[in-house]
Amino acid sequence: MSQRKLLYIEDDADSREMIADVLHLHGFKFLGASRGLEGIRIATQELPDLILLDINLPEMDGYEVTTLLKSVKSLENTPIIAISVETDEGSRERILTAGCQGFISKPINIPEFLDRIDEYLSGRTESVTPEVEKKFLTEYNLRLGEKLQNKIEELEKVNLSLISMNEELNISQSQLTDYNNRLLAMNNIANSLRLQNSPAEVLQVLPQKLTEGFNVDRCLIFEYHEDNGKLDLLHAAGTAESNIKKIKFKLNPVFYQKLKDDLKILWIQDKKEIPDEKLYKIAQSLNSTSFIIGSLSGFSSRRDATSILKSIASYSDRDNDESITIEKPRKYIIFIDRGKTQRHFESYEVRVLKAFLQTTSIIYENMLLYHKMMKLYKIKEQEAITDALTNVFNYRFFQSQIEREIVRSDRHSKHFSIAMIDIDNFKQYNDSQGHLNGDEALKLIAKTIIQNIRKSDTLARYGGDEFVMILPELDKHQSKSLAEKLCMVIGKTKVPRKKSTPKVNLTVSLGISTFPDDGRSEDDLLKKADEALYQAKDLGRNAVCISA
Ligand code: GH3
Ligand code: MG
Repeated sequence: MSQRKLLYIEDDADSREMIADVLHLHGFKFLGASRGLEGIRIATQELPDLILLDINLPEMDGYEVTTLLKSVKSLENTPIIAISVETDEGSRERILTAGCQGFISKPINIPEFLDRIDEYLSGRTESVTPEVEKKFLTEYNLRLGEKLQNKIEELEKVNLSLISMNEELNISQSQLTDYNNRLLAMNNIANSLRLQNSPAEVLQVLPQKLTEGFNVDRCLIFEYHEDNGKLDLLHAAGTAESNIKKIKFKLNPVFYQKLKDDLKILWIQDKKEIPDEKLYKIAQSLNSTSFIIGSLSGFSSRRDATSILKSIASYSDRDNDESITIEKPRKYIIFIDRGKTQRHFESYEVRVLKAFLQTTSIIYENMLLYHKMMKLYKIKEQEAITDALTNVFNYRFFQSQIEREIVRSDRHSKHFSIAMIDIDNFKQYNDSQGHLNGDEALKLIAKTIIQNIRKSDTLARYGGDEFVMILPELDKHQSKSLAEKLCMVIGKTKVPRKKSTPKVNLTVSLGISTFPDDGRSEDDLLKKADEALYQAKDLGRNAVCISA
């Protein structure tokens, strides 16, 4: 006889193990399951010779498992024996009515248990009287009906919560789309702000851009004066633009502090929350529903523009330069609201706006820094080519210019001249009139020369009391007459003198050389002009000589 297979459906692992040991010992093949459904699955696959079943199972109890097992065609004739601690009246009859062939009560007496198993395997079937069966069948059907009803209700609940979850998902899906659109709009605005030409322009276009891109009715930008707490309306866009142009008021310092602490943004959902009386009145008169107050620039601690600007200021102070004025970055309060549409701000909108204002602050501060730097750069660039005393070009610039002039004149087969100018007996003047008057005289002579030459001519200080000029397109004779005119004008110019000394005059001598006749390089041309200058000095000064 082949080995008998027994399946034991029991949630308690210890009981399962105990029965497994006993059955193994007595030559049975043992199959175990801890849940009803698992048991049914094993039973249909393995087709055991007998099924032992615990009645108190979780999820699906023994009665239900029995009903299901009996409904499987291939298990129709497989005996199912219930094992239970239940000793109350009727539990045996109930389980036999459900379809079990036998009933063994716990605790199990092993020898008796083995005898009973043998009996069941050989076809023993316990039964109940038709009356008892009828009674329990009705009760059992009722119980199953109740259970089914509970299950249906449970399922309905699950279904309802699934529907509402789905609705929620739909709402957040549309919010997500809107959030995404807002982010894109803010990004576009930030990009267009970057393209503005100055920090002032950034502030000017901001209200308009925000009302368009953020779907708000009004946007106002105030300049905040930290010293007196006053706000001045700078720019506005929105429905009541004409009314708000006049707004000017003092901000409550507590409110201002709150704005700083709230990291650039304050979202007011209820007007009553406004911690400032004046602002409350304004909100009231504008009929605003929900609004946001934010701040721009100067509040960020991450990067302190003030300290950078200060260092630029000290750099330019070193050179005693007053042309670059460094003021602290200004602070702006931005006021955004919805009045007309009466639509409240959603929290995600506030988040987007907060991020946007932070970005805008950075753009604004960067632009502020960039403009200051450019100003400084231009000053320094000018300084690099200018003679500090006379304000005419310096020798370095002359060198770059003469090189360009040589190339240009060569290409167009034109000539140009250079003139060396030296003040006559300047040492003597310095000695008698003092160094300060000497400086003034140098400035005056430089200015006089500039006034008498063309814009296209270049005058540079060569060093000491010597100047050098580039005269494009002038030949020897044209430049000689210009030089003679300069001698005459300078000779007539009143130069400073000490009160005690008699009237003095300063004269200049000039030496001229011409490209390409006297040379094709800077060195040659300068050398020739210098030689001519010496000749002029030799002639007795206040004279002009051209290179022969
Ligand atoms: P000459 O007619 O031969 O040119 O005589 P000079 O005295 O002008 O020539 P010299 O080269 O002997 O002297 C040039 C003087 O120019 C020397 C110095 O006192 C004066 N000088 C040079 N640079 C400056 C300056 O920046 N300021 C003042 N006040 N004087 C200067
Ligand atoms: Mg001199």
